[in-house]
Amino acid sequence: MDLINRTSHGVWQTLDEVLEQREDICKCEQCRYDMACMALNNLRPNYFVSKHGSVYAKLVELSQQSRTDVLIEVTRAVDRVSNNPHHLD
Ligand SMILES: [Zn+2]
Repeated sequence: MDLINRTSHGVWQTLDEVLEQREDICKCEQCRYDMACMALNNLRPNYFVSKHGSVYAKLVELSQQSRTDVLIEVTRAVDRVSNNPHHLD
């Protein structure tokens, strides 16, 4: 059995999409994790139990409202972290 957080899946997916459209900012591992962490701390978790360890796309899909919330928080986190990155140059 496994606990899968739909919000977490949505945040990583959305983060990839948002970063793909941004040429101007750092996309190193530290920055990407900081962005995901910040977004997830501002969103409600949305867990379900996965019985066989396999995750079906349909099960991890977020509702339209949740996707909108995720996009807002991810965009905000990308702006904040890219303006004040924690990575070591
Ligand atoms: Zn960075």
